[in-house]
Amino acid sequence: MGKVMLEVNGLNTKYITRFHEDVYSVNNVSLKVEEGKSLGIAGESGCGKSTLALSLMGYYFAPLHYMSGDIIIDGKNIARMKPEEVRKTVLGSDIAYIPQAAMNALNPTMKIIRFIEDVFKAHGIQMTKKEIYDVARERFAILGLPEDILNRHAVELSGGMKQRTVIAISTILSPKVLIADEPSSALDVTSQKMVIKMMRDLMAKGYIKSMLFITHELPLLYNVTDDIMVMYAGQIVERGTAQEMVFDPVHPYSKGLMGSIIVPESGVKDRKLTALPGTPPNLKNPPAGCRFAPRCPYATAACRGMEPQTTYFDGHREYKCHFSVEKLREVYASEQ
Ligand code: SF4
Repeated sequence: MGKVMLEVNGLNTKYITRFHEDVYSVNNVSLKVEEGKSLGIAGESGCGKSTLALSLMGYYFAPLHYMSGDIIIDGKNIARMKPEEVRKTVLGSDIAYIPQAAMNALNPTMKIIRFIEDVFKAHGIQMTKKEIYDVARERFAILGLPEDILNRHAVELSGGMKQRTVIAISTILSPKVLIADEPSSALDVTSQKMVIKMMRDLMAKGYIKSMLFITHELPLLYNVTDDIMVMYAGQIVERGTAQEMVFDPVHPYSKGLMGSIIVPESGVKDRKLTALPGTPPNLKNPPAGCRFAPRCPYATAACRGMEPQTTYFDGHREYKCHFSVEKLREVYASEQ
């Protein structure tokens, strides 16, 4: 096993609504990402993947609240740090975050180089404007971005170029962990490909040490990440390599999710598509027992009464279901 860059143990976070209701959006999440590895997080809208991304930043502001658990980045537990300390010493350098439609966050009246100068200043890095410009120019060149962007305003850039520029700015301090939340979802196909290539380059050249990539587009994860983790109702229900998760999902929810998509490169484009019945539960009051039970075709009384534990198999895979892996595979085989 390589050096662990990000380790999360038993993380619980919640939203508190303006009506003082608790929404348990991240429930007992534990995961590890090693140096040089990428982990994709998949699931339907509302499954908690974007909240997990925000929670991992360790930068909590209402309505999001930390409840318990550890977030350890290269040995530093940021869950125990004050938000101001996280902002000053962790964000940008240890962990960087690219939110959905990040390109819209750029102030259109500022030159791109000013954003980069602000990043260095916010981290107390003493460098002259010339030195910062040289660092930025070199990084932009390596990432295939024209140097003249540095002296342009955000409003002068296309959507795809703006998004790639935001990614270059966010990773200028070479963070240990990059969390990218749907970084290409608002772009056309050509721009999407360029964003994905850029993220691969950042990993390959060591400018980011590890990556969490969140998307509802599973075919994208299959092509980008080493592992895929499936979330349902705020919990991790399965994790395996991208290959295993596409060809051999074990958990009934993962099985349903994978059955509802086509991964053209995987050679399964002719298979029958299936739809998952129902909708994810309301996390103000999640179902007792297994949270997937109301939608699971295999649910039993035990599933509705008792929460399944996470079980590990094949040395690196995990899933959360009362049924054994053998039993689930037997059931799936009988349905074909
Ligand atoms: Fe379905 Fe039961 Fe497994 Fe939950 S524990 S996924 S309800 S079989």
